[in-house]
Amino acid sequence: MWSGSALRRARAVRQPRILMYHGIADSEVSAQLFGWQLECLANEFELLPLDRLVDRLARRSTTGHEVAITFDDGVVNHFCTVYPLLRTHRACATFFVCPGLIESGRWIWNMELRLRLRLLSATERQALATAEGCAGADVETLIGWAKQLPLPRREAFEDVVRQQTQNFDPAPAEVERNAPMSWDQLKALDTAVVTIGSHTVSHPILTTLDEAGRRAEIGTSRALLQSRLGRDVDLFCYPNGDNDAGTAAIARDTYRAAVTTQAGFAGADSDLARIPRIPAGESAALFLRRLHRPTA
Ligand SMILES: [Zn+2]
Repeated sequence: MWSGSALRRARAVRQPRILMYHGIADSEVSAQLFGWQLECLANEFELLPLDRLVDRLARRSTTGHEVAITFDDGVVNHFCTVYPLLRTHRACATFFVCPGLIESGRWIWNMELRLRLRLLSATERQALATAEGCAGADVETLIGWAKQLPLPRREAFEDVVRQQTQNFDPAPAEVERNAPMSWDQLKALDTAVVTIGSHTVSHPILTTLDEAGRRAEIGTSRALLQSRLGRDVDLFCYPNGDNDAGTAAIARDTYRAAVTTQAGFAGADSDLARIPRIPAGESAALFLRRLHRPTA
């Protein structure tokens, strides 16, 4: 009952919405919760592929009841867990993937770094932080600090952490959640269910790169995906949401639309190179609140 009235209240706010997910797992959005969310959306909103929503935004012909679903990072979890749920619930989504990581099989750098840093004791992390010049020694502070480093410096830091965590041996559930999908998995996804978008070649923080580096990450990822998949790739997602005017200009020249991590409705006045999204929320209550107010 309460969720029905909350949904109707959200529906009364006539604004297109793009939901942002990263993975379906008990520690974030559970499979059960995701299934419930899909049912709610099917009942009260119009669930549609992101490219169709972009068409309407471009034509300024939205109804305000549209919802598009997106998943960032292109991990195995999206193939093994998310895709079957989308099919069961007759829903659709866009997966933003990194072709360089698919090619190499390497994890997104910060996901690997997070698990490796957790293997270190507090004393070891403190020594690392002091030696590297990071003000804090907890895992998320170190990751936030590393995200701001110029690329060569960040890679040197990753090497130091790798040296100190040679016992790194992720459990199968961690591999499912963090390893990239393979090309075969990507090609096996029904194009009527999943649209593939680019999330750069290797998931760097674009604003830490020079102009040539940004162009390569934004442009080459599209070319790689198109040649491997044999279809157009028109949608882009900024890693970590980080963008600036220069980065957005390259994305605008390369793709039909790009999404950020800024919380907001995909309003008719949205810049198509910087469309806000709504973080899906790890609980039913938060999900309902954010449909109504994205920054909740
Ligand atoms: Zn990402």
